[in-house]
Amino acid sequence: MAAKPETKPSQWPLIVVTGAGGFLGSHLCEHYLRRGQKVVGVDNFSTGTPKNIEYLRGLPGATTNFSFFEADVCAPWIQWLQSSDRPLIFHFASPASPPLYQKLAFETMAVNTTGLERAMDWADRFGGRCVFASTSETYGDPLVHPQPESYRGNVNTMGPRSCYDEAKRFGETLVYTRNWKRGTAHGLVRIFNTYGPRMNPSDGRVVINFLVQGLGREPLTVYGDGTQTRSFCFVSDLVNGIARYAESDLTEPVNLGNDREFTILELAQEVRILFGNDLPIVHRALPADDPVKRRPDLKKARELLAGWSPTVPLSEGLRLMLEWLKSTEGSAK
Ligand code: UDP
Repeated sequence: MAAKPETKPSQWPLIVVTGAGGFLGSHLCEHYLRRGQKVVGVDNFSTGTPKNIEYLRGLPGATTNFSFFEADVCAPWIQWLQSSDRPLIFHFASPASPPLYQKLAFETMAVNTTGLERAMDWADRFGGRCVFASTSETYGDPLVHPQPESYRGNVNTMGPRSCYDEAKRFGETLVYTRNWKRGTAHGLVRIFNTYGPRMNPSDGRVVINFLVQGLGREPLTVYGDGTQTRSFCFVSDLVNGIARYAESDLTEPVNLGNDREFTILELAQEVRILFGNDLPIVHRALPADDPVKRRPDLKKARELLAGWSPTVPLSEGLRLMLEWLKSTEGSAK
């Protein structure tokens, strides 16, 4: 079962979420709106969807506590965000699936660098804190397994994943250098594969792809031989971890995800079970630079984040996500 979310409001008078129309951004907004906090969301809908904003507007208290701005966070913030409240800013705006960040390669590099600087500028101006959504992709195709935060990665600067991986890595350097040179206390979390309701049904990531294929009674597309591994975290677990990190004064990177590792074939089998075990599997070419193995070392997260640990098993999370997908069938983006 999902861990009970904390209900205590945070010490921050204002929560700002960039990428509020996206998957993780919308869940972060929901987490804080359900605690009765004032939340400002921003998105330019390059990969997020207005449906997620409509959903947030329907939550209890959202009429007074939630504001949304359709804007590009790489543009100066002064034009749209006018507040002197001390903000906790989650910089989560970015394409995140390989097909989308490859399509929006320049935008991906900009939002994780220029956009991040704008977010930190705003936080500094009003005595706030910024938390950057970094990624397991900072480890690239890892040669150390599982991946601890001390591992420096095996990343290609010139390949189809570079626009995302290197932008996130440079984003981490921007956070580190600002804290070092200016005495600020911004932070970052390294997010591993996450799934759950409100993922974009056409974003191309493996869990949503398989569920959409299953619902359409289509074969599950396994890239390569399916022996590559990932570790899948249900979104409620991830959001609880992010909130705990953000509300601490940590500035060092912390891995967040689930440390139960599956091959892609094992994931396909879990999905087949949901659909009565008779879906065929077809193999497609393995994309270039697709990491062979990925599993977070969560020792640091468990030690530093007040006993946080992922709790939702894959079978349960997939069932919850399928329920959501069925309820939105026909209205998906
Ligand atoms: N994958 C797959 N079938 C799909 C989509 C993805 O087999 O329909 C594989 C992909 O090659 C990768 C893994 O699933 O090995 C996870 O891919 P995803 O795009 O979800 O995220 P990544 O972890 O690669 O960024």
